[in-house]
Amino acid sequence: MINEHEIDALKRGLAILQRDAETRLPPFTPGVDAEALNRVIDAVATKMCNNYPYFHPQYAGQMLKPPHPVARVAYALSLWINPNNHALDGSLASSPMEKECVGDLARMFGWTKHLGHLTSGGTVANLEALWVSGQLAPGKTIVGSSQAHYTHSRICAVLGLPYQSIESDANGRMRIDALQTALAQGNVGTVVATMGNTGVGAVDPLHHIEALKREHGFRIHADAAYGGYFTLSQHLGTDARQAYDALGGVDSIAIDPHKHGLQPYGCGCIVFKDQSVGTLYQHDSPYTYFSSDELHLGEISLECSRAGASAVGLWATHQMLPPVTGGAFAHDLDQCIEAAREFHGLLESSKTFVPLMAPELDIVCYAVHAENSEAASVRAKATFENAAQKELHLALIDLPTDMVTRYAAPMKPTTPMTTCLRSVLMKPEQKAWVKRIVDLLHEIAP
Ligand SMILES: *Cc1c(COP(=O)(O)O)cnc(C)c1O
Repeated sequence: MINEHEIDALKRGLAILQRDAETRLPPFTPGVDAEALNRVIDAVATKMCNNYPYFHPQYAGQMLKPPHPVARVAYALSLWINPNNHALDGSLASSPMEKECVGDLARMFGWTKHLGHLTSGGTVANLEALWVSGQLAPGKTIVGSSQAHYTHSRICAVLGLPYQSIESDANGRMRIDALQTALAQGNVGTVVATMGNTGVGAVDPLHHIEALKREHGFRIHADAAYGGYFTLSQHLGTDARQAYDALGGVDSIAIDPHKHGLQPYGCGCIVFKDQSVGTLYQHDSPYTYFSSDELHLGEISLECSRAGASAVGLWATHQMLPPVTGGAFAHDLDQCIEAAREFHGLLESSKTFVPLMAPELDIVCYAVHAENSEAASVRAKATFENAAQKELHLALIDLPTDMVTRYAAPMKPTTPMTTCLRSVLMKPEQKAWVKRIVDLLHEIAP
């Protein structure tokens, strides 16, 4: 779990900070009660043992992934400074780092000009995008697929904007005919296209949505919180590739470095194609000190204080693993897609489990064979429990039964929803563990 090199690197970094302080300032060391510190940290570590082993390949459940060592060390190191990326005064080093790595993310989507910043996560990134939508087109409806992240409807409630859900197809993608019906009714201001939804990892057909934009003139916000980085992949299927290739044409993109970008939590990102939306953020904070004429990140963000540590961690990661096509980072994403495909393929010959839609990214959903959907749900929950006993950690997902039975015939639909199993294979190392995971699944099958 812990690599000694990480601890050594952190000590080296801290020594550099310490030497710098000593050359500039009279000696000053903040005090700490060493005995109390040790006692409390021991207690914290003991408590923290009560967690699923997120870092391990046998954790094949929720969308959780350990930060890269370079991100973890850079983030931790920056805590001895604790920069605040609201204004430059509080973050002389880390605000420029933020601008640089937001630029790296925008370039992944082909944008050389953009306006954007890091956020505390995808929810706030989406909130800012939909807030801008509401500012530009007050009262107009926001639409997203039925598999869009559950926070979109809540964000719209916060913003006082109407929200409408658009039906998804059996693959979990937004149905274009259903979108056309909503557009025909009028008043749609923004379409949220989910580039990899959180439940099943399906990619909305953005290229078809963009074709409709030419006709109807709505805004498009791409919620790429989970799936944005997959644009770098060279292993996508044709549909997903076409959708990702259309990303440059949207108005705004949310992407979460703390999902697939190897960062600790507290690192989302929003980017807008049109820099002029920055004027919507204008404020007159009497507390913000302006030490330069440059645009402050706090002037283009709804949040005030933000962790500079997040920018430091992301910047460090981009130095080691630039988010570019053909690089080591992209290769790792391909490994995740391959792991999911292999997992799905192995389940195809299973007598116990039935794989659902083919994975577009790295999420695999599978049901447990049973006479009817109610029994299948019971068996899925039992599998989840039994697997955890053997330190194989899965996740559960409730899907509309018609989405399940079309893959799991002759299962009878006796309930509107069916509980299925879900594995997010977001650690590239899991590719080498897929067979072992599937074998374990069959050992513990109910
Ligand atoms: C995770 C996720 C979000 C929410 O992001 P947080 O970082 O958890 O706030 C929004 N949309 C999608 C598609 C996601 O996967």
